[in-house]
Amino acid sequence: MTHVITRLCLRDSGCVDVCPVECIVPGKPVDQWPWYYIDPDTCIDCGACIPECPFEAIFVEDETPAEFTAQGGEYVSMPAGTPGFDTVYDGENHHGDPVHLEHTRVLEAGETIDLTPDIQPNYDYFEDGPGYSALD
Ligand code: SF4
Ligand code: SF4
Repeated sequence: MTHVITRLCLRDSGCVDVCPVECIVPGKPVDQWPWYYIDPDTCIDCGACIPECPFEAIFVEDETPAEFTAQGGEYVSMPAGTPGFDTVYDGENHHGDPVHLEHTRVLEAGETIDLTPDIQPNYDYFEDGPGYSALD
């Protein structure tokens, strides 16, 4: 088991600063890997990252909701080319740096989405994606 980051991540980066084993990294390139990702082999499940996320994007892997109910107004972010994700998000991260995401959409109040497909990218980023070299 590990902790995972989901499509609710808007690259705030606050979780990175508190992780005692430095296993959270920003996805790059952003168009393909829009979230931050947790290296499942390094995460010690301390839970310190969860309360740091202003968007509540981090879950214990086996508690990742299959039916996440939106309050309304949350942005979700996906890789370029994902159908329906054509809204631009502009914000600021934990350190006051600008964040620009081009492939987002805004959830409606009461809308329900399955976040469990977001578990696997946390593994893939480090096994097959650029996350492997990011930790070298
Ligand atoms: S604090 Fe939340 S939004 Fe920010 S990088 Fe971490 S998971 Fe993503
Ligand atoms: S649960 Fe702890 S070790 Fe795992 S990513 Fe979060 S802060 Fe890091």
